[in-house]
Amino acid sequence: MLKIAIQSKGRLNDESMSLLADAGIYAASGSRSLVSRAKGFPMEILFLRDDDIPQAVAMGVADIGIVGLNEVAEKGQSVVEVMRLGFGACRISIAVPKGEDYSGPSWLNGRRIATSYPVILGDYLKTAGIEAEIHEIAGSVEIAPAVGMADAIFDIVSSGGTLIQNGLREVEQVFFSEAVLIARPGLDGEKSAGLEKLKFRLRSILASRGMKYLLMNIPQDAVDAAVALLPAMKSPTLLPLAEPGWFSLHAVVPEEVLWEKIEQLKVIGAEDILVLNLENIVK
Ligand code: ATP
Ligand code: MG
Repeated sequence: MLKIAIQSKGRLNDESMSLLADAGIYAASGSRSLVSRAKGFPMEILFLRDDDIPQAVAMGVADIGIVGLNEVAEKGQSVVEVMRLGFGACRISIAVPKGEDYSGPSWLNGRRIATSYPVILGDYLKTAGIEAEIHEIAGSVEIAPAVGMADAIFDIVSSGGTLIQNGLREVEQVFFSEAVLIARPGLDGEKSAGLEKLKFRLRSILASRGMKYLLMNIPQDAVDAAVALLPAMKSPTLLPLAEPGWFSLHAVVPEEVLWEKIEQLKVIGAEDILVLNLENIVK
């Protein structure tokens, strides 16, 4: 049976669990033990620290896993990236004390940089032709400059708030990460069939995220203009109403243009506009 490793607690746990739940896959009730038999899909769920997930997948302790691209790149284990999952976005950046007059990457020559990502940093420095000292520390990297342990840091940034609190300024954005589904290369027939089924469910969920289902009543003379306004999978659905001269028009619309479309549709005569949540787009 397919085994998936997900983060046991931390930033990726909630969204990994809710992605699986949206795909109809649930961890056995309340259990937070190391392994749990899933309901709704033939799979076991292993709860691990995120650092351990690439190795667990590479070694076959799990067959697949959900983890940040940052950990995949740092650990360098032999795993394949199957699918980007659209959550857990962050970047790994170089930051320096805000008073420093940082002139560009060459400023880093001969400096000490504290990080929990020595491999990704080492690759960056090598590519940029910079000789710097990498100080690997496990946590609280952002305090290293203030306590005199380093001249700069290389750490995860999402909003940038932590850097500001510590008197640091982000100067180079080096690596962009999000949660990904990874797999061990060469899964056997049964497991790779399970993975295909899971990918199919996840693709449907991810396709529907950020989309709304829009329906409205529209008079016949506005139909062409409304159809032209609406993006759709093939073309919008048009159904006659019981009242002659009126139609019901349905379309799937990206959330970011939803209000703009509603305003335009009202101008051309659409009435009774309903916006519904979409759970799935199965193709
Ligand atoms: P664990 O105990 O599992 O080792 P952790 O403390 O190493 O957890 P978290 O802080 O929970 O890790 O972060 C897990 C992942 O979430 C990161 O590796 C990264 O991919 C992603 N992430 C997204 N935004 C952030 C952020 N602002 N700070 C840290 N990680 C983030
Ligand atoms: Mg970790």
